[in-house]
Amino acid sequence: MISRKAVSGTNLEQAKSHNRRVVIEAIRTNGALSRAAIARLTALSTQTISNIVEELETAELLRAEATLKGARGQPAVPYSINPDGGYSIGLQLDHQLAVGVITDLSGTVRARIEHPVDRPTPAQAMPLLAAIAGDLMRKFRFDRQRLFGIGVAMPGPFDVEGMTSVGPTALPGWQDFPVADELQRLTGIAVTVENDATAAAIGERLYGVARNLGSFVYLFIGTGLGAGLFLDGHLYKGSRHNAGEIGHMIVRPGGLSCGCGKRGCLERYVSLRAAYDRLDLPDPDHASPDVLEELLAQGDDRLEAWIADAVDPLRQAIDVLELALDPETVVVGGFMPLPVIEALVARLEPLHLSVSSTRARSTPRVLVGAAGKDTSVLGAAALPIFSETNPQFDVLQKPLG
Ligand SMILES: [Zn+2]
Repeated sequence: MISRKAVSGTNLEQAKSHNRRVVIEAIRTNGALSRAAIARLTALSTQTISNIVEELETAELLRAEATLKGARGQPAVPYSINPDGGYSIGLQLDHQLAVGVITDLSGTVRARIEHPVDRPTPAQAMPLLAAIAGDLMRKFRFDRQRLFGIGVAMPGPFDVEGMTSVGPTALPGWQDFPVADELQRLTGIAVTVENDATAAAIGERLYGVARNLGSFVYLFIGTGLGAGLFLDGHLYKGSRHNAGEIGHMIVRPGGLSCGCGKRGCLERYVSLRAAYDRLDLPDPDHASPDVLEELLAQGDDRLEAWIADAVDPLRQAIDVLELALDPETVVVGGFMPLPVIEALVARLEPLHLSVSSTRARSTPRVLVGAAGKDTSVLGAAALPIFSETNPQFDVLQKPLG
């Protein structure tokens, strides 16, 4: 089935690599396409498409499928992504877990490893991440020439003076640490780093509920809370790479004190850490999200009370995001167990009146993420492929003429 969304390209010679990405993206989001179908979706000329398809087939990034009989006799060859055309490694580091995956060009996970960690410092985590990358490549053998690179997702914010260095939700000792350079030195592989919420937005855009969306916000509920901003077909990162750190937006002036030095921050009400605190767990630093799922199943009163208290701040955050950014939808996900997120989201209605409260919408205002707890690590794995194969996503937004 062909998506309603069109993909456009330009025929300028200097935009050749852009056009390659447009073709790959058209096939990746729609499934196998003939050259004629690509032409209809992209507005690239037939000649341009023929050249690009041939080039990508030679590079083994695309492969020809069995010929389809056209309605009027013209046989058409559909082209699909060659999963084995390229591979990527995704690594995710959080307070308690390091996860690594190898995905192929189609995004299928070919190997996965996870390791418990305990709020690791760079000195502890970097050798571990390098070892996970090495183990993944021993577990799943492939032609190293076809490795696009390593993508890393970890909690933000990055390099903010006076904020979060002592906060319970940022990892300790990572201020100013050159993660990409150091991991590249240890592995000899190109490394891209992104915060976990942005990586999750990419994961959800590629594999989840945001597949065909051009503007959405991903609210990542982890130890803290952050937002990944995918706007007008682009990831929006901000001037210092900290856009979306809304966990430290004040939702209750004079409210609960936050590790960042302020009071009443959103993540003091909506985060794993906020839930653990509310549950009076003996050791919230070492609590696991599974605890929340178990307590929810038992109908635990304290968890119910936390959910009830988290609804208002979350609703307010969604209101601000809708009014400021006018996204198609807000996707909620992260390390918070899915049933708990569903219970929280189920209570959000009625949402505040905002620019998003129109009946003329094709997606609900709030969606629960579909890519699961591996959303971020899948997004991390997509980082190297993403920069290699994806067009500026804005081209996905031009409607068919
Ligand atoms: Zn704060």
